[in-house]
Amino acid sequence: SVRVRFAPSPTGFLHLGGLRTALYNYLFAKKHRGTFILRMEDTDQSRLVSGAAESIEDMLEWAGIPPDESPRKGGDFGPYLQSQRLEKYRQAAETLVHTGNAYYCFCSPQRLDLLKKEALRSRQNPRYDNRCRHLHSDQVAEKLASGQPRVVRFRLQEGVEPFEDMVFGWNRHDVAAFEGDPVIIKADGFPTYHLANVVDDHHMQISHVLRGSEWLISTSKHLLMYKAFGWKPPAFAHLPLLLNKDGSKLSKRQGDIFIEYYVKKGSLPEALLDLITNCGSGFADNRPGRQLNELISHFDASRLMTHSAMLDLDKLPEFNRIHLLQRINSKEKCEFLVKDLQDLIRQAYGTETQEGGVLESGYIRRILHLRKGHITCLKDLVTPDYTYLWVRPSVPREQLENVCAESQAIAALTMEMIRKHSKELSMEWLNMELKELPKKLKVVQYSTVMKALRLALSGLQQGPSVAEMMVSLGPIEICHRLQRVLE
Ligand code: GLU
Repeated sequence: SVRVRFAPSPTGFLHLGGLRTALYNYLFAKKHRGTFILRMEDTDQSRLVSGAAESIEDMLEWAGIPPDESPRKGGDFGPYLQSQRLEKYRQAAETLVHTGNAYYCFCSPQRLDLLKKEALRSRQNPRYDNRCRHLHSDQVAEKLASGQPRVVRFRLQEGVEPFEDMVFGWNRHDVAAFEGDPVIIKADGFPTYHLANVVDDHHMQISHVLRGSEWLISTSKHLLMYKAFGWKPPAFAHLPLLLNKDGSKLSKRQGDIFIEYYVKKGSLPEALLDLITNCGSGFADNRPGRQLNELISHFDASRLMTHSAMLDLDKLPEFNRIHLLQRINSKEKCEFLVKDLQDLIRQAYGTETQEGGVLESGYIRRILHLRKGHITCLKDLVTPDYTYLWVRPSVPREQLENVCAESQAIAALTMEMIRKHSKELSMEWLNMELKELPKKLKVVQYSTVMKALRLALSGLQQGPSVAEMMVSLGPIEICHRLQRVLE
């Protein structure tokens, strides 16, 4: 069965590149009715960022691609935090030492440093000279007994066999020709990435490894380890680099690559998934607006390309608009939007907005339907242009009378006009009826009537047309506001 994993290091928060890797793993798993696993590779204790591991899992849930097995959820292959699996790595390393595939190395940091400096001076790649490979077993036993600091190194074999990557095709990297024997257990007893990754992928029965292409050249090394253990390796699919639209590297220093930034901004997860799948390959066509189940059914791993994926952040608002529209049109999803918007209104206006009335779900739902297709995110609706919808005006009587002495009569007539109309308010009908008002009042000019109505309905002296405001406010709210003028 298909088992794939997303294996981030919690040395930072989830960014777009990480989300892309997680998403493609998720799609691959779901497409093949398999299992999607989240494993935290937290073995580099010096680089851990507090809160990152929890946040990464939160972000996957937010994105709608939760893991089936994870540190939080558990599962049959746990623990899912590498720092809680140290015994497994220690045993694995010991096995490799016993079979002659790994050895203890006692070289001091000073010696290694010297090697590095010499190599750089003679313009060579710094690499360990594998000196401790040749220690006699008595020497090793003696050093171990004396408690000398030591690491374990993997003995790289010459002559690497090629492997077929699902994306990049046939590949081989003759590691032994370029690198010294790599450390697999550090002096602090923690494993390095290479060992932990191989051991866990084996024990967690991972069938396919989908990860960033920066790991492609390490794969030969990993395959040497699988061979040394006598384990069957998983299949590999390396995902091309994710770049900015201009071809530059996505930099973690830009705040806008972190997923939390988009959550705070009010982006919809579907829009972010669109952004990623639109530039990444794996699909026959790049069509925004797909739901997750469509992404799963349309995903085709054989369509993954080797060329880098250019992320076009400028498309996000448009993708968001499309998905917001879809959510508003879905009865069930719209209810969540209503709640979110209620929260946004309370946050933005606090006590200026009243419970009931403008916070009533029917009122909010209608406005969502009126504005759908025009707004790119829910937050657009709590900008100054829309404040009048959420905050009932309180206009002093003199101010109204300064605009028009007949304000009360205007309010009364307008209420009457609205009440006798049983259909949904439309711009056409309102414009027609509003034109009649001055005639009924005889003396007053049309523009003055509109000024008075705008002020009474919104507290504004300028803004959208009165008919437009009335359509948005709806009959109940219009009458409520006009009634206040009469009191
Ligand atoms: N911990 C590695 C990373 O953060 C995982 C690489 C892999 O998937 O093997 O990129």
